[in-house]
Amino acid sequence: MTILTAAVRDRVLSLPSSELPAYVYDLAALREHAAFVRAALPERVELYYAAKANPEPEILAALSPYVDGYEVASGGELAHVAKAVPGRPLAFGGPGKAPAEITAALERGVERFHVESAHELHMLAALARQAAPGTRVAVLPRFNLPVAAGSLAASSLAMGGRPAPFGLDPSQADTVVRLLTDGTYPHLELRGVHAHLASGLRAPELLTVAESIVSWAVGLAERHGVRLAEVNVGGGMTVDYGVPESRFDWAAYGEGLAQLASRHPDLTLRIEPGRALTAYCGWYATEVLDVKHSHGEEFAVARGGTHHLRTPATKGHDQPCSVLEVEDWSYPWPRPVAQRELVTLTGQLCTPKDVLARNVPAPGLRAGDRVAFALAGAYAWNISHHDFLMHPRPGFHFLDAETIGR
Ligand SMILES: *Cc1c(COP(=O)(O)O)cnc(C)c1O
Repeated sequence: MTILTAAVRDRVLSLPSSELPAYVYDLAALREHAAFVRAALPERVELYYAAKANPEPEILAALSPYVDGYEVASGGELAHVAKAVPGRPLAFGGPGKAPAEITAALERGVERFHVESAHELHMLAALARQAAPGTRVAVLPRFNLPVAAGSLAASSLAMGGRPAPFGLDPSQADTVVRLLTDGTYPHLELRGVHAHLASGLRAPELLTVAESIVSWAVGLAERHGVRLAEVNVGGGMTVDYGVPESRFDWAAYGEGLAQLASRHPDLTLRIEPGRALTAYCGWYATEVLDVKHSHGEEFAVARGGTHHLRTPATKGHDQPCSVLEVEDWSYPWPRPVAQRELVTLTGQLCTPKDVLARNVPAPGLRAGDRVAFALAGAYAWNISHHDFLMHPRPGFHFLDAETIGR
């Protein structure tokens, strides 16, 4: 499997230099991947997309036929997603929801609230009484549950089962369930339980996590003699930046979830991946401005950098990439060219942290050649510090059957 689609390759080679760097998204590839993920999941498992991974309106719309809804984590995401995919179900999560954000969500008729603290529960109840007096708001308290130690050891971003600002401590579970079921808050309905405990897990570990969330939730419900309709077991499916042609094992995960669902026929299971849905559909394309030899190593300075694609800097990996050779060289002096096998690709920022990929096998890389960084469809542009050094912003291209540009 190539990590560069033909449509993206063509676009990257056809753009004039002045239009680089550019984010190029292959929406056809995104649809194909999303359809594959949906098909791997049992019918009874709902799929929500965590919008924070990549909230571009074109991405949200392309995913729409394959997802049951969207998870939003701020008032800003809420308004944005509601506009991009009108009428689709939303779940409002995230720590530190401000009162005005909660009110805006209630006024929009958001389907589900993932409540992160007791204070937030009291606030939601008070605001729901005002904003939506005739209705009952569906609540899924988010719990920071302990999970089997072995499964989280592999995780790159574990946030469950240890001190964290996310979710409720399990010790608060009984109090919260009582508040939601003893008539204290008639405007709120305990719909289920939510947990998102780690990111970067492979299918077997993530299944162990899902099983422990479900059995904990079922135990809680039994203890209180209440019925839970839904358990959301979160996202966190791994994307392996070191092996970019690999994919999370959706088939194994779907099979495991099917077994879990069959043991709990009254329960709707829901997952909310972000990264593993959209990472593969985006590329950050640029050109090599200069190639230098420095103290025994080769450096290629690319137009752009980590202020556009922060992912490798923030996760500490080398962003996988493909080199596209360009023969044109219009200057009368010699073209800078790498002398050695391995080249470190940096950006234009005046900081040693501006590294996109270290020691890339790119013998003969020249100024003017182009580079397409793959797996740039999630947590890429939208997590980057765009204004640092005031370089121009990249272009954005959303390739579709008709290869519509923007
Ligand atoms: C970020 C987040 C997700 C998505 O995580 P991925 O690692 O991108 O799959 C899902 N749920 C919650 C609550 C999150 O904060």
